Amino acid sequence: MQIIKKQSGAAFKLKKGQKLKVIDAHGEQVSDMVLFNAKDQREKLSSGKTLDFEESILISSGNFLWSNRSNKMAEILEDTNGRNDFLLAPCSPETFKVMYNYDAYHPSCFENLYTSLEKFEIEPDDIPTAFNIFMNVQFDKNGKISVEPPLSKAGDYVLFEAKIDLIVGLTACSAEDSNNGSFKPIHYEILD
Ligand SMILES: [Zn+2]
Repeated sequence: MQIIKKQSGAAFKLKKGQKLKVIDAHGEQVSDMVLFNAKDQREKLSSGKTLDFEESILISSGNFLWSNRSNKMAEILEDTNGRNDFLLAPCSPETFKVMYNYDAYHPSCFENLYTSLEKFEIEPDDIPTAFNIFMNVQFDKNGKISVEPPLSKAGDYVLFEAKIDLIVGLTACSAEDSNNGSFKPIHYEILD
C-alpha cells in the first residue's frame, strides 16, 4: 500500500495485466489520474476518445480508458463509488487565479503531476486532461456544471487493469471545492 500525502502526487510504472487500486481512505477526496504508453509517451490518455467510445460522460465499472491513438489503456474492473469523469482539467495555478481570484501560491494537481512525471521525461505541456476519480461534477439541463462534494466514503476504491505497459501519474487533489473543503491523502496499491 502506497500513500500519496494530501495535496501531492506520485508517478510509477504499471505493466500490462497489472492492476491498480486507487483508494479514498478517508472519504470525500478526489484523485486525478493521467496515463502514458510506457514505450512511447506521445501516446496518452484521451478524454475525447474515452467519451466517444464509451458513449458516456460518467466512466465506471466495465468502461475503458482510451488513448489519443484510439487504443485501450486501462479497464475499470471495480468501482465502489461510481462517480468519475473528465469534465474538468487538473486543477492548476491558473484554476485558482481565474476561477477563485486567488493570486498567491496554491498547490495543484497540474504541478503535482508534472513534477512527479519529470523522472519519466514527461513535461508540463504533455499532461492531458486527467481522469477525475471520485470527483462529483453535476450538470443541469442547460449544460451548466458545478463541483459538488465527493460522494465517496472512506474505503471506496476504483480498480483498474492495465491493457498496455503504462506510466501512471496520480494525485491527491489540491482544490478546496473538489474535496468538500479539506485535503486528505489517497492510497494506492499495485496488484499482480
Ligand atoms: Zn486537483
